[in-house]
Amino acid sequence: MNIIAIPAFHDNYIWLLQQGSEVVCVDPGDATPVRQYLEAQRLQLAAIWLTHHHNDHIGGVAELKRLWPQATVYGHQTLGLADVAVAEGSRVPAFNAEADVWAVPGHTDTHLAYVLHGQGAQPTRVFCGDTLFSAGCGRVFTGTAAQLHHSLQRLNTLPENTLFYPAHEYTAANLRFAAAVEPANADVQAALTAAANTPTLPVTLAHERRINPFLRTDKAGVQAAAVAAGLPADQSTDSAAVFAALREWKNRF
Ligand SMILES: [Zn+2]
Repeated sequence: MNIIAIPAFHDNYIWLLQQGSEVVCVDPGDATPVRQYLEAQRLQLAAIWLTHHHNDHIGGVAELKRLWPQATVYGHQTLGLADVAVAEGSRVPAFNAEADVWAVPGHTDTHLAYVLHGQGAQPTRVFCGDTLFSAGCGRVFTGTAAQLHHSLQRLNTLPENTLFYPAHEYTAANLRFAAAVEPANADVQAALTAAANTPTLPVTLAHERRINPFLRTDKAGVQAAAVAAGLPADQSTDSAAVFAALREWKNRF
């Protein structure tokens, strides 16, 4: 299976999973670059996986369905776009394998991730939409910071060689925030230099554990920075409270 990043808009990636002549497309916010790629490579669209309802993730679905009517659209029932409504515990076909659907609320209250568990030498791959970004996480819209914290904690239980495929190239800006949180974190500084070359994605969980402040709420330096940013000192070891304080700080950073 090949995984291809299709750039869209200013900083989105539409991820394609390709095997043989068939493709699964994740979050086609824009149909045009997907259509162009599939036509140039003579590929067929077999399925669309949707993570959440924002237009930069679903805006191309109708046009792609018009062009490839046999493609099956998977997504949360509230999207109103899914041929097959999926939720926590659902499984969706991925060629000769299946991906698990996880509910990962926070950015939105019905946000889903598609978890393709590793087989043999293949690592686990996660299409996580706007939940986890490299060195950051999504903003809280219709979910809550507590939900997003829980969702990231859950993603953090996967094997450390898991590959994450977020939907945005926000890495450099996120790393500037991470450097403000942890000025002495040499891994953040190295990643900031490396982020000049894009795409920076996918990223491994092991990498994110070293650089992503939202996965490092148990670190004394991150907790101290959260207190300096306004978190009451008596909450400094409460991972969810540290997470929420970082999220608030990032909003105004
Ligand atoms: Zn979104």
